This record gives sequence, structure tokens and C-alpha cells, in this order.
Amino acid sequence: MATVEKQSDQDSVNGGAPSSTDIPVENPATGEIIAHVPDMGADEIAAMAARARAAQPAWEAMGFEGRGRVLMNMQKWLTDNADRVIRVVMSETGKTYEDAQMADWGYGMSAFGFWPKNAPEYLADESVKTAAKLLAGKKLILRYKPLGLIGVIGPWNYPLANSFGDAVPALAAGNAVILKPSEITPLTSQVLLEGLLECGVPEGVFQIATGRGGAGAALVDVVDMVMFTGSTATGKKVMARAAETLTPVSLELGGKDPMIVMADADLDRAASHAVYYSMFNGGQTCISVERVYVEAPVYDEFLAKVMDNMKDLRNDVSTGPGASDVGSMTFPPQVDIVERHVEDAKAKGAKVLIGGKRGHEGKGGYWYEPTVLVDVDHTMECMTEETFGPTLPIMKVADTEEAIRMANDSPYGLGASVFSKDVVRGEAVARRVDAGAVCVNDALMNYMALELPMGGAKASGLGSRHGAGGIRKYCQQQAILVSKYHMKHEVHMYPYKPRTTKALQKVFGLLNGRRKSV
Ligand code: NAD
Repeated sequence: MATVEKQSDQDSVNGGAPSSTDIPVENPATGEIIAHVPDMGADEIAAMAARARAAQPAWEAMGFEGRGRVLMNMQKWLTDNADRVIRVVMSETGKTYEDAQMADWGYGMSAFGFWPKNAPEYLADESVKTAAKLLAGKKLILRYKPLGLIGVIGPWNYPLANSFGDAVPALAAGNAVILKPSEITPLTSQVLLEGLLECGVPEGVFQIATGRGGAGAALVDVVDMVMFTGSTATGKKVMARAAETLTPVSLELGGKDPMIVMADADLDRAASHAVYYSMFNGGQTCISVERVYVEAPVYDEFLAKVMDNMKDLRNDVSTGPGASDVGSMTFPPQVDIVERHVEDAKAKGAKVLIGGKRGHEGKGGYWYEPTVLVDVDHTMECMTEETFGPTLPIMKVADTEEAIRMANDSPYGLGASVFSKDVVRGEAVARRVDAGAVCVNDALMNYMALELPMGGAKASGLGSRHGAGGIRKYCQQQAILVSKYHMKHEVHMYPYKPRTTKALQKVFGLLNGRRKSV
């Protein structure tokens, strides 16, 4: 287990004094260093893998019921430790209390209920019928066998939901897990590890490998499957590295989610959703609303409503419930990216209606003002590259066809949203958007339905989390054939004889062949 030097009251995981190679963890809302974690090397990670492999068989042997009891206890633990967990998330991300509560703590609560409850059904043995006549009478079973050791590598934007959250189905399936959280936000998972141990997860079954990219790469080498969430650029590196050991990967990558506002939309709802889901979590959500296309007849009215929602937003350090609306940025270089996109847009003719500057008067930390951009087009980075910050670029389009064309003009395809009072038309438009998930008259909420697959199209990923596929990917599909009633010697076996070969050909043709072309 990684040790974390306690440097403030905000983190509660302890260890020895930091060494020169340790990674400092900053509160990005204030710039204060709050902890240090080790930058683990390949040897340490290999040793963790050995411990995990020794512990995994007993965990698997506990069965769904035994594991489920332990994991469900985490719901109670999370309830008892809600404020502490939320504040640790806030301390290393700079997000507001509400953002940490809803998307991190709330997701954890759901996941620890959902996976233990549904794992037995999703991973139940399936009895399979075959069309192969020669197998008549044999029992065929499809079984989901835990792969053994899963490596989860996570980003910094949701340290509970997106890193730790992916470990929950892997554990429920009977695997051991080594989690490599982002080096920017390694503290939340340490606190949750405490919870898992208290709830009865055996030592070694869940471990945390802290470190930078090198630790992630080393983890890829020693596990049976990699669940990666992060940028598309790093996802490609992970996939290339995993190819060397033929290790399967599931990749949840970047996005540039479009919102389409049709001429008949409920503009109040569309505007509040555009603002909330572009600014939520400081705009640092893979499925944030990153760009909006509004049909010309309602453009002005929509804009006025957006500005109405924006004008009173509080962009400040969150000290507790209700203290601020939009928090800081989490990853310092991300402020540069946001600034670059806004400046590029301005240079190409875009107008800033509100915000448009970095910084936060009189405070440290990493901040960019909640910003609305108009007169934007696809020559601008803010419309084509992932901004991952509190920006809302809005483009006027002639009609729905242009909106769909623009929405699909992207290498990404993670999420999208469509607003129309005519839900039949809205759904028809949703089906034409190239994205892994599309909401009609809503945005992002599909993520809360753990029954629905959530994964990216195009450069936004490979595979998905949630739903049956979100736990089966942590398993080997094992086919079992049991022959109970059979002959001592099968007719197709040695020695081959001309008569039997011809007879078998005839029988095979009669049983399987089509006598007429279709
Ligand atoms: P990142 O790709 O920089 O880092 C992600 C993780 O990969 C970190 O833990 C990092 O240490 C590790 N890593 C870096 N180099 C590695 C290597 N060579 N081998 C193995 N691991 C390595 O991403 P980030 O900046 O932390 O996160 C932001 C990105 O994540 C955004 O693009 C966002 O859209 C994406 N994201 C996607 C989803 C989704 O569900 N699709 C969810 C959240 C975030």
C-alpha cells in the first residue's frame, strides 16, 4: 500500500516523511501542498502483483454472496464517512462540495449497491443450445471466469467515480485489483482502501500503486487486463504496450460532446442544461457539454437564457455545502489549454460574452472563469479539440441537418444531447449522432444508469463500462462441453475408411444442407 505523508488536516492517510522522489499532491483550489505519495517503480508494482495473485483465489472462492456482503458493506461505510470522503475528493481536485458529493461519493454509493446485486445475474452460467446436430445430447455452458488480476488506471477528474469506480465490478467478479490513480489525485482511493479493508476485503485483493505514467506502464505489464480511463493520446500508448503481452484493454477516452438545440426545444431547459453540464466539475468531465449548436430561429432567445443562468454563478473555493457553484481547475496545465482555446477563438473572430480570463483574484490555485463564447466555428480549437474546462461555445446553425453534420464533424464520439419538445424527432436525431450515448432533453444522466453501457465511439474509446458488458470484460468467457451420453467410439474417428467418409458426407449434407438456393 502506498504511504501518504499527512501535511494538513484535509487528508487522513499517514506514512513516513516524504522522500525527494515522492510526488507532491496539491490542493488546486489554493495551491497548498497537502500530501506526498511515492512514485512507484516496476519492481514495487511487480511485488504488488505477486501479492494480488496470492490473495485472489480465496476472494474468488468466497463466491458472489460472500464478496457481495463485503462490497455492500461499503455503502454503509460510505454513508458513515460521507463528509470525510467528499472533503478528500475536494482537497485534491478543487471541485465544489456538491460536485464531489453527486458525481464521486454518489457514484460510489450506487456502484457498491449495483454490482454486488447484479453480478450474480450478469455472470451466471449460460446454458447454450447448438445447431450442430452432431453435438445432440451434450451439455454446453458459457461461463464467466474472473481473469485474475485487473489493472485500473485512472484520470484526475473523478478520483472516486472514474478510477476507483471501475474497480468495483472487477472485484465483484472475483478478481484482485491494482489501481493506479492519477498522480494528481491519489488520495481518495487511499481513503477508500481503508474502507474496503474495514469492510472485510482481504489484504492484497485491492492495492494502490501510486506514481506517474511510468507506474501505469509498469502496471500494464503485470496484469491480466487493463481498464484505462484518460486521454486518447495515453490510451493509444496503453494499448500499444498491452499488445506486447496480448493483454486485453478497455479504454474510456476523451470527448468533445455536442448539444443540439432544435427550433422547437424547451429553451429554459436547454439553457439550464447547457450551462450546468458545461460548468459542472469545472467543465472537467469527459461527457461535459463542450459545444452547442442552436437552430437560427431560437438562437437569440437561447443565448439570453444562457446568460441569465451564467450571470450569478459563483466561481470560488468551496468550503462546504452551498458555498460555491464552480470550483477550480484540477490539473494546472489544463488552465493553459483552456486559455489557448479561448485566445484562438478570439483571434479567429469569436466573442466572449462572459468570463474569458484565467486566474482568481487574491487567491492561489488554478482557475479559469466560467466563459461563454459565440460567433464560433469549426476553424477554432474550442469547437474541435477537447477543452476540458469551464467554457461554453455556442454556434448558430441553419437547421437540424447542419447541426447533425457539425455534431458528427469530430474525431470523438463519447456523448451528446439533443433538445426538442417533439421526443420522436429528438430521438430520431439522437440516433444519427455518432456517439456512444445520446440524451434527449437531458445531458450526461445516462451515466447514472449503471444498467446502460457507457463507452465511446471513434477516438473516444474501446469497450464500455456499466451494464452486463461492464463486468463481463473482467472475465474470461469459458466454454464448457460435457458429454454424458455417448458411444465408446465416435464414427468420425480413426481409422478413416472410404465408406464411412462418404456416408458422413451424406448425413452432414442431409442434416445441414439447403436443397434450394435462396
Ligand atoms: P491522462 O491520459 O494524462 O492520464 C490518465 C492516467 O494514465 C494517469 O493515471 C496517468 O498517470 C496514466 N499514464 C500516463 N502515461 C501512461 C502510460 N504511458 N502508460 C500507462 N499509464 C499512463 O489523462 P488525464 O489528464 O488524467 O485525464 C483527463 C482525460 O481523461 C480527458 O481526456 C478526459 O476526457 C478523459 N476521461 C475520460 C473518461 C471516459 O469515461 N471516457 C472519464 C474521465 C476522463
